[in-house]
Amino acid sequence: MSRRIIPVADVSAIPDYSGPAHAPRGELTDTLARPLRDLRISVTDRCNFRCVYCMPRAVFDKDYPFLPHGALLTFEEIERLARVFVDHGVEKIRLTGGEPLLRKNLEFLIERLAALKTADGRPLDITLTTNGSLLARKARSLKDAGLTRVTVSLDALDDSLFRHMNDADFAVADVLKGIEAAHDAGLAPIKVNMVVKRGTNDTEIVPMARHFKGTDAVLRFIEYMDVGTSNGWNMTEVLPSADVVARIAAHFPLVPLEAHSAAETAQRWGYADGGGEIGVISSVTRAFCGSCTRARLSTEGKLYLCLFASSGHDLRAVVRNGASDAEIATAIARIWHTRTDRYSQLRGSASATPDASEPRRVEMSYIGG
Ligand code: SAM
Ligand code: SF4
Ligand code: SF4
Repeated sequence: MSRRIIPVADVSAIPDYSGPAHAPRGELTDTLARPLRDLRISVTDRCNFRCVYCMPRAVFDKDYPFLPHGALLTFEEIERLARVFVDHGVEKIRLTGGEPLLRKNLEFLIERLAALKTADGRPLDITLTTNGSLLARKARSLKDAGLTRVTVSLDALDDSLFRHMNDADFAVADVLKGIEAAHDAGLAPIKVNMVVKRGTNDTEIVPMARHFKGTDAVLRFIEYMDVGTSNGWNMTEVLPSADVVARIAAHFPLVPLEAHSAAETAQRWGYADGGGEIGVISSVTRAFCGSCTRARLSTEGKLYLCLFASSGHDLRAVVRNGASDAEIATAIARIWHTRTDRYSQLRGSASATPDASEPRRVEMSYIGG
């Protein structure tokens, strides 16, 4: 597969997004030679859960200033931006939020995105991360619309602990029904994400492993991260992935597996008895910034270059000011070419506790996981 590379020297400094009418297409690389391959699109900043590590109820209460409807990118705007991103080398789109299944008629957006093709004519990998609450109802229509696969978040099997963690009194059984419906609809391979918070749900590591072992769902353990500023994050509540692996291996021997690709965020481990695999995402203890090919488009159309960024680039303004596709492509190229972000790598060599004097980081529920 041949791709045109646009050298960094081809573009001048941002934030002047306006550019020549003949905007570049083809692969982009940032200042650390990382290509742009994955686009995460947040379709809503709202959620029906109040997970303690993401949208604590004390902050995300009835007075929280969620975005008004007019601020959201429309499906037409999302599709248009996505098309330009795909021209620039994006091969995978993940819909997220907030809870993406709360966005009305999401299937219409998926249909539009599913019609896009990569530069060499392949269909995109279109996936979605969900809390699973509406999945049992929607799995079939999502699949029919062109969704390739799905990632479901589930932090515990113990019902009362799960209800405590989602703080919306939502039952485990209903998420499990959603996972089953996704399986039946052919949204495979299903990934199940468990955020591990030491002292809160680490007792669920082995029960979760036991539950999903031998199924075609791949369970992934995510280190609790210092995203945003509202979850009261503390390093003492992070359980390193190495401990997760050790705890599981004490019950079910594990063998390391090769990564599917260099950009894969999870390290893979297989059950020695052939019972499938797990993944660990060590965002805190083993940064993977060097291979980070992800851009994030917020619900209101701001482009963020890192999960831990405190500001984004306003692509909605570019679109709504009447820019041509070529001008949008130029803007994206200029932004990506200047990207220097590697937050987790830098955090790894310093004190991980956020400093109150730092600029306010964007919230996970706004930017998407
Ligand atoms: N609402 C959907 C869900 O929960 O799957 C999609 C959005 S949610 C922000 C995306 C992912 O981010 C979820 O798997 C969630 O568990 C994870 N997440 C949220 N806050 C986190 C944190 N502080 N550390 C690690 N993962 C987090
Ligand atoms: Fe909602 Fe997902 Fe955040 Fe939980 S992790 S509060 S489900 S956005
Ligand atoms: Fe990518 Fe930022 Fe995460 Fe590093 S910290 S892997 S640059 S999103």
